Amino acid sequence: MSLPEIDAQYLLQMLSSLLNTPSPTGFTGRAIALTEQALRQYPELELSRTRKGALVVTWPGLRSDAPRALTAHADTLGAMVKEIKPNGRLKLTKVGGFAWNTVEGEGCTVFTNSGETLRGSILLVKASAHVHSAQVNDLKRDDDNIEVRLDARTLSADETRLLGIQVGDFVAFDPRLEITDGFVRSRHLDDKACVACLLAAVKALHDAGLQPVQRTTLLISNYEEVGHGAAAGFPPDLAELVTVDMAAVGEGQTSDEFHATLCVKDSGGPYHHDLSQRLRGLADQIGIAYKVDIYPFYGSDGEAYWRAGGDVAVALIGPGVDASHSYERTHTDALLATTQWVAAYLLSE
Ligand SMILES: [Zn+2]
Repeated sequence: MSLPEIDAQYLLQMLSSLLNTPSPTGFTGRAIALTEQALRQYPELELSRTRKGALVVTWPGLRSDAPRALTAHADTLGAMVKEIKPNGRLKLTKVGGFAWNTVEGEGCTVFTNSGETLRGSILLVKASAHVHSAQVNDLKRDDDNIEVRLDARTLSADETRLLGIQVGDFVAFDPRLEITDGFVRSRHLDDKACVACLLAAVKALHDAGLQPVQRTTLLISNYEEVGHGAAAGFPPDLAELVTVDMAAVGEGQTSDEFHATLCVKDSGGPYHHDLSQRLRGLADQIGIAYKVDIYPFYGSDGEAYWRAGGDVAVALIGPGVDASHSYERTHTDALLATTQWVAAYLLSE
């Protein structure tokens, strides 16, 4: 099998656009629309949305006796306004699983119900060292001790309400994207990195005049971070699903930022052995240096589909992401390896 060339510049362009489009789970319309817009230029693709708001892409294959799917998620961690505090600041509730200290000091955007945006920062309630001394260090980072300081003149709940802010408004954390020497440092690489990999794989096949061997569904899901993203949206005759999501890098892990990883087990148990073996074989065949790993605290959209009753083979691949669900980082090498692996899978018998 000879692989089509992957357009690395396009991959990074799409990744940057996605990262700079806020999409906390529950508020993913813009990121889904951006992805849809990018795919609209390919007349061979049929695009639709699930009622839940995910993007479904149907890509005709040479055959459809064992239809395939790939999924990546466009939703990210974030927060919602839980209360407007008497001092005019905002108490938040988390969207997705993360620790408050990972976003402490970060800039954020509040999306009001009327479509306005306000800027602010995520801060400890006792943030000033000159006022609170040791408490800045000692205070537990929990929902009660973290607040949004708005960049607006308000010292009371009433003044904040006049700004248009209400309980339930979505709050997005700044991605703080920086690309240096192949490294991509940003929040929300999970899982926008993999959405960009799928887009780059589509472009590579299209530009080379190639089509998948099997009819393939691409599901860009929008509720992964809360556990049920890809639970629905696949055709009933689906035979196998490759989830494309970040690999967990850290102490004890084989994954790193320069490779794609095949995950064989995570919190949801082992993935499908035969499909995993085929993916390993493909990587060996085309010369992708990959890692095999187990993620100790991790669940994927493939398992969401299994739990929802999906009777298909499920496997998981993705680029290594350091400091996941914190200020993340990966490398172009891992993104390209993941994209090549996806292209190889699409073109494989
Ligand atoms: Zn993810």
